[in-house]
Order: sequence, then structure tokens, then C-alpha cells
Amino acid sequence: APFQVVDLRELLKSTLVMMSSKLDGITVVKDFDPELPPIPAYAAELNQVWTNIIDNAVSAMSGSGTLTLRTKRDGAYAVVEIGDTGPGIPDEIRNRIFEPFFTTKPIGEGTGLGLDISWRIVVKKHHGDLRVDSKPGDTRFKIVLPIDPESE
Ligand code: ADP
Ligand code: MG
Repeated sequence: APFQVVDLRELLKSTLVMMSSKLDGITVVKDFDPELPPIPAYAAELNQVWTNIIDNAVSAMSGSGTLTLRTKRDGAYAVVEIGDTGPGIPDEIRNRIFEPFFTTKPIGEGTGLGLDISWRIVVKKHHGDLRVDSKPGDTRFKIVLPIDPESE
């Protein structure tokens, strides 16, 4: 299927609407760069990425905290940052969280597939990058997407 033309802000907002029942007690901060152009991408798949990462963020904050959604332009790339104020990702597991079936959640609560799927969507299907910076109280997932994938 061909890429669609996707406004990342609108897509993030609609993901938030779909997830609103999970966001009780969470403060949501939106910081969207008005200069960011729409990009060629697969909307449904990026919605899946936002959903997986926000789901993890919300469960890390267990009921209260701040979820920050940021979009900005970095040269030839669009950057979406999803931040939470949860306890952070311990160093010992930082390089394993993108592995399929890696989870720290109790059986039945986590499949360990959310970040594996997200990584495949961002890196393999969009030729982008998915990174994380984390310290206690400040975890940020950064989704980097080429604004012009044809030139990749
Ligand atoms: P699952 O959510 O089913 O456990 P994921 O692939 O979505 O699988 O995430 C893998 C693991 O990464 C989680 O179990 C958790 O240990 C860690 N993780 C992901 N996001 C966060 C976050 N925002 N804060 C703390 N830990 C996280
Ligand atoms: Mg998950």
C-alpha cells in the first residue's frame, strides 16, 4: 500500500481520544511544532506505535503523572517525543526492551510485543528510528521519521 499524507499532530490527538479512558488522573501536555509539515506515512500503523508507547507510559505512571507529547522538526526528519514521569527504565534492561516477548509485567498483563512491533513499524516500514532516554521521573521515547522517505 502507498504511503498516506499524515499530519502527525492530528494523528496523536486522535490516539489520545481513543485512549481517553486510560488517561484518568494523568495530566496530558501537548507541545506541537506548527511548522512541521504532514509526512508520507502509514497512519494506522503509527497510531499503533503511539498507542503502544502511551500504554506503557501510563502503566509506568500507575495512575498519576504527566504524559508529554511533542512534535518537532529536525532537518529532514519529523520527531515525535512521548514522555512520562514514571520511575524510568532500569539500566539493566534498557537494551532489552525492544526484544520480542521481553516484559517486566505479570503474566496476562504484558505480551512484551508492544515495543518490538513499534520498532518494526518505525524502523523497517518507515525507515525511521526509535530511541529512548530514561531516568527516574523522565522517560522519553523518540520516534524519528523521514519527512521525505523517497530520498532515503
Ligand atoms: P509490555 O508492555 O507487554 O511489557 P513492551 O514491549 O510494550 O511490552 O514493553 C517492554 C518493557 O519495557 C515493559 O515491560 C517495561 O519493563 C519497559 N517499559 C516500556 N516503556 C516503559 C516506560 N515508559 N517506563 C518504564 N518502563 C517501560
Ligand atoms: Mg507495552
